[in-house]
Amino acid sequence: MKFTLAQVISLGLCTWMGAAQAVDCESVRARFQCDASTKYPLHLSFDDGPALQTTDVLKVLKQEKIPATFFVIANKVDCPALAKQCQTEHPNDAKACVQPARECEQRQQILQQAKREGHVLGSHSYEHLRYSEVEPALMHEHFRLARQVLDPYLNTSPPLFRLPYGDGWFNRAQKPQVLQALKETGFQHIAWQLSAFDWDEKNQQGDKILANVLEQVCTRKQGGVVLFHDGVHDQWHEGRLFTTTHLQEWIPALRCVVDFKPLSFFEKGYTPRR
Ligand SMILES: [Zn+2]
Repeated sequence: MKFTLAQVISLGLCTWMGAAQAVDCESVRARFQCDASTKYPLHLSFDDGPALQTTDVLKVLKQEKIPATFFVIANKVDCPALAKQCQTEHPNDAKACVQPARECEQRQQILQQAKREGHVLGSHSYEHLRYSEVEPALMHEHFRLARQVLDPYLNTSPPLFRLPYGDGWFNRAQKPQVLQALKETGFQHIAWQLSAFDWDEKNQQGDKILANVLEQVCTRKQGGVVLFHDGVHDQWHEGRLFTTTHLQEWIPALRCVVDFKPLSFFEKGYTPRR
């Protein structure tokens, strides 16, 4: 059989790409001392979005057929409030707010896309605050606003909520008022059992984030809901987008050790709502 030059190049590329994506599961398991006979259940969750880069995550999840949960910050899709704030900051420059307004609309569309593609959407508050440390009135107002602004996107009953920093959850014995306020607003709290520690700059290199997850799963011999980030909540955390650009590379090694499961595998007490 004869091949044209284009076919030869294309065949070569496919072989090369296949090789690049191949992963030696035996060495992955050896490195993290994982049990060879077990696949642990894992659910991916992403906090601090939506960001424009969330589309990269959605692309990977669709391609790999992995269900995920996104806990989103409501003020990122509160476009009227953002427009008002922008106009206050740029009173004499109408053009300055055109691009921010467009990006806000894009973020809204990204949430619609995530919902359409079958992922669970929950709230990560209105702003990204430590709610056990703010005035009770502000806390209640932010939970109410989160519920109101995210209403078109939240797709479970009751709607789900993950507290920023886990503050109010991990210290619930000392600060019961936070969970109480969430309950009054109608939210159900969802925590995480494993963390990718992708918020920490020192992990944003090589495969450290992947290694963090595999190490926890294999050491504990247990899966769970794992915390990643697909967005930033302030200007000092741009490096968090390391996850959105590298997620695809980590999936084959994860599959050596875990089975991806929906949130409902781990968390009960809510029902999906379209
Ligand atoms: Zn967060």
